[in-house]
This record gives sequence, C-alpha cells and structure tokens, in this order.
Amino acid sequence: MRSDRPNDLILIVEDNPGDLRILGDLIKHLGEVIFATSGESGLFLAQSRRPDLVLLDVELPDINGFVICAELKKHRDTEDCAIIFVTANSGEEIAVAALEAGAVDYITKPFVAPVVRARVKTHLTLKRQADELQELANRDGLTEVYSRRFFEHNARVEINRHARQCQPLSLAIIDIDDFKAYNDNYCHLQGDVCLKQVAQALNQNSRRPGEFVARYGGEEFVVVLPNTNAHEAQKYGRWICERVVSLAIVHEFARALDFVTISAGVVTFTPDPSTSLDLLVGEADKCLYEAKRAGRNQFKSISLSSKNFAQEIFRNTPAAP
Ligand code: GH3
Ligand code: MG
Ligand code: MG
Ligand code: MG
Repeated sequence: MRSDRPNDLILIVEDNPGDLRILGDLIKHLGEVIFATSGESGLFLAQSRRPDLVLLDVELPDINGFVICAELKKHRDTEDCAIIFVTANSGEEIAVAALEAGAVDYITKPFVAPVVRARVKTHLTLKRQADELQELANRDGLTEVYSRRFFEHNARVEINRHARQCQPLSLAIIDIDDFKAYNDNYCHLQGDVCLKQVAQALNQNSRRPGEFVARYGGEEFVVVLPNTNAHEAQKYGRWICERVVSLAIVHEFARALDFVTISAGVVTFTPDPSTSLDLLVGEADKCLYEAKRAGRNQFKSISLSSKNFAQEIFRNTPAAP
C-alpha cells in the first residue's frame, strides 16, 4: 500500500543499457524511477523498496522475467506491484503468457514513446485507485483506525515475522470503561464522538514500523506492538491509560474517575511459527478482565515463555495511574 508515499515509485529491470536509458527518460516525469540491470538486483530492489510499478524485461541474463514475476506475486510485500513486461518479442503467445503470469500489461521493443508513457501512466493511476480502495476496506468506518479483518491478517503476518527474527511481540487489548453508562447518559451519538476521540488518541502513539491500532469490536481496540519486550509493553500500558485520562472526557457515571478511562490487557511473547493468534488474544483478554476486576483505569500484563506458551513467567500488577 503506497498511500504513505507522495510520489509513485517505478522500478525498471532491464539489462540492455540503451533500452534502460530510453525507458528511464520516457517515464522520469511520472514518478521516482529506480533501476536494476539483473534479475537478482531487481528482486532485491522490489522487496526492499516496494515499487508501485515494475517494468520488467523478459530476457534477462540471470533470471527469466517470468520467474521474477512469479517471485514478486508470491511475496506479501510485492504481490500488489503492477508489473508490465518489456519484450522484443511481439508475438501473441508472449502477450498471453505475460497476462497469465499476473502482469497488468506488456510493452514491446523498439519503444513507441507515446504508447510507453500512456501505458505506464494508466497503470500508475489504476494502482493508486486500487491502493485507496484497499485502504478504505482496511479501515473501521466510525473510528478510522484499522478494521478487525486487517488486524487478523496483519497480526498473523507479524507473528510469523517475529518468529523468523526471534523478536518479542506485544499485543494490547483495550476496552473503554463503563461505556454503556456513557451512552445511556450522554446519548449514543456522543458515545460515537467519544469512541473516535479515544481511537485517535491510541493511534497517535505509533512509534515503530508495523505498529498499528485496530477496532476489535464495539468499544474494544487492539494494538500490535512489534519488537516490544515486556518492559516496553508495560510502559506502553501505563502510557495509554494516562493518555486517555488526559483527554479529560467528562463521564460522571464512571466508576474509576469522573472522566472516560480505559482498561487494558497486554501480552508479550516471542512467537514460534505455530503460535496461535487466538491464544495471544485470549491471554491479553484475561489480563484485561483482571484489570477490570481490579477497579478499571489500569492495565495488567503478562509475559509468556517462547518455549512453552502455557508457561507464565510473571504477571505484572502496576498501580493505577
Ligand atoms: P466495562 O467497564 O466492564 O467495559 O463496562 P461497559 O459498560 O463499557 O461494557 P458493556 O459491554 O456493558 O457495554 C459496552 C457498550 O459499548 C454497549 C454498547 O452500546 C457500546 N457500544 C458498542 N459499540 C458502539 C458504537 O459503535 N457506538 C456507541 N456509541 N456505543 C457503542
Ligand atoms: Mg534483456
Ligand atoms: Mg467491551
Ligand atoms: Mg467497556
């Protein structure tokens, strides 16, 4: 998804220096253009820079363009790149093969300048529109944080990434305290305003690549905290409770304070590939329940051993902020 980048990024993978220069000159005004002259460096650049569009020569010295295309389609970071094949072969078979391989289009050599520009421009526009639609589908309509569907998909991706890198992953479940009483006394519409304010406050903290806030349901949110150990997760739990209090949303019918507060459950775990998301959420949920029982406006956390998920190392019980 490229909504975070002002300029479209185009990668040209082409081993012929003359063709590379011509293509680069033809499209340089359409975005930021980066180059690779072999299949291997093309794959590396695609994975590290995640371009919007790849102009991919079919005939490369090391890896065939179709193999590169299949690789790009296989990986989550590159599966959405629009790929346009570039080939000296103008036969029908190659056109069909390119489209069947997942390319959006193909361009033949020698280049016809207006055709190249028009095709690249069209596919950049389509890619941008597809990204915007995807972004909308991933968001919760009311609070504008990510949706539960996005959470479930991406939390699993993060579990796998942290398992590969042997890194601790933390997850927080956050629930607004006495929110039924808030709705009952200040009306449902005001409740919606409050939900949005709390969601936006949670969202302002994003410190690390991959961190995100999603609406889990009703007045519950979930935060995925990548590369976050137990100590840092506790700091986050404390901070987030204080942050919501600092919004100073009056709630005279709440039990903890005269303001809207949250309770949170935080779990930290270095996953292995078999770690189940449901188990992590379940553990965070147990902590949340304990925080509620202990009087709300606080968090409880748990750090779990990576060797045996069921084995608890410790449960933390901080003072309420
Ligand atoms: P607790 O402190 O134990 O969490 O109590 P609570 O009152 O927050 O919990 P409960 O589950 O009884 O009530 C949750 C309330 O959240 C009830 C429901 O109407 C409200 N709610 C859920 N989704 C929305 C929403 O989209 N907008 C508004 N305004 N209210 C919502
Ligand atoms: Mg070539
Ligand atoms: Mg709830
Ligand atoms: Mg609640």
